[in-house]
Amino acid sequence: MSNYHEYVLVVEDDVQIRNFICYSLRAEGFRCVTADTGEGALSLLVSEPIDLMLLDLGLPDVDGMEVIRKVREWSEMPIIVVSARDQDKEKAAALDEGADDYLTKPFSATELLARIRVALRHFYRQNGSKTPTSYQVGGLRLDLAKRLVFLDDVQLHVTPMEYKLLVLFFKNTGKVLTTKYILKEIWGAGYGSDTQVLRALMAGLRRKIEKNPAKPRYIMTEIGVGYRLVDE
Ligand code: CA
Repeated sequence: MSNYHEYVLVVEDDVQIRNFICYSLRAEGFRCVTADTGEGALSLLVSEPIDLMLLDLGLPDVDGMEVIRKVREWSEMPIIVVSARDQDKEKAAALDEGADDYLTKPFSATELLARIRVALRHFYRQNGSKTPTSYQVGGLRLDLAKRLVFLDDVQLHVTPMEYKLLVLFFKNTGKVLTTKYILKEIWGAGYGSDTQVLRALMAGLRRKIEKNPAKPRYIMTEIGVGYRLVDE
């Protein structure tokens, strides 16, 4: 990817978590700047060349959701939301507002760094010059020119809807996609909240791409939020 001099803004009002995050980032060569309020974060974003933001949703002054909304008015920078457990609804809402990923407290340094790398890689890929002609994760490969899907070099017969869903996942490799977002992208805005139809489509697709659909290797379920295609 890069030589890891990316500049990360950590927005967190808990001083221990803040220090833990910055320590972990600096140990890996990232640069780190912190803010303990939403207002502080927004002013740093204007004055500093920030590459990625880690954002705690529970801030003392403004709602983290408001920070995402404001940043998205002028920047596509990766935003990873940090939230407490049992806030599935908030996580999904944050992703729908434009956050790229989320971490649930407590998390390990390994998990933190992995998520940051995925988000940055995805950002660079999106902003890179050439359009890919194929996608691959492990043994799962998509040939975009021929519209074919292969698993361990064996061609799979997928329906047009399954293919559309796979393309959506591959375009967002490593990112968690909310159910709402997938429904809108696959069926259009009208489908709203019919999660049953998505669950059925996903079950069919998993039977084809997963050796053990009950223990998926490629597309993971993010409980209460959506799904994620693993990034390797
Ligand atoms: Ca907090």
